Amino acid sequence: MAIALETNAADRPNLALAIEHVSHGYTIGDRPLPVLDDVSISVKPGEFVALLGPSGCGKSTLLRLAAGLDLPLAGRLTEDGRTIEKPHPDRILVFQEATLFPWMTVRKNVAAGLDARGLLKSEGYRVDEILRRVGLEAFAHVYPHQLSGGMAQRVAIARALVNEPKLLLLDEPFGKLDSLTRLSMQQELVQLWRDVRFTAVLVTHDVEEALLLADRVIVFSNRPARILSEVAVPRPHPRRRDDGDLIRLRQVLLQELGVTADV
Ligand code: ADP
Ligand code: MG
Repeated sequence: MAIALETNAADRPNLALAIEHVSHGYTIGDRPLPVLDDVSISVKPGEFVALLGPSGCGKSTLLRLAAGLDLPLAGRLTEDGRTIEKPHPDRILVFQEATLFPWMTVRKNVAAGLDARGLLKSEGYRVDEILRRVGLEAFAHVYPHQLSGGMAQRVAIARALVNEPKLLLLDEPFGKLDSLTRLSMQQELVQLWRDVRFTAVLVTHDVEEALLLADRVIVFSNRPARILSEVAVPRPHPRRRDDGDLIRLRQVLLQELGVTADV
């Protein structure tokens, strides 16, 4: 149950991520498209950092580099001092769309990572634990097409957490959800982060989401993404969106993003 997960996690220190002078880009035809411009970020073990920036600035590109799915053109990314060169179950990326296997039940989807690593026999108990933890135990035998968007994303998060990642990379995980589901999922994510313990890097273009969840918000410019500023959010959880400090920080972040009106 949740207690077992907490105990397991306590044995495994979270992961520190260092992004050092990273630049990256793509080539479209024969023209270079610069996407990240000398980005440096260090994330402490157990910290929750939000990366906030306009659409298309390069946020997903940076998460793909942190996940080890791509290598940077310049600079270096390290986990606990080791260069990130390829994907690893310690670092898991959750996408905006819950990319579930449609032919597998919820339980099989969550178990798939352990199964692929040959760990299902010894570690399979974790599947039911995590399903309970995200409130999906009653849906274990349901197929993805029978799930709402919020439930599907909960499965995607469970599927990541069953591997007990030290670093969870979240790429606008609630971007496609309706606003009420989004609110409850944001609270659930914070609760999971506090109970299960992992280092979290969340990409979002939603100022309120960043302020509700993160210890620190890093603001990016338009493409090619540069770091414009960093804002600490020293407020305890659970946070209220009408918290006066958060409202003030919201104005600061909106200004950084170039939105100056009283919105
Ligand atoms: P964000 O997540 O901030 O919206 P992305 O990192 O997805 O931004 O994309 C940054 C820029 O890079 C965009 O202009 C996008 O079109 C471009 N881009 C992303 N992936 C590729 C790719 N594989 N090939 C070419 N261009 C890409
Ligand atoms: Mg993106």
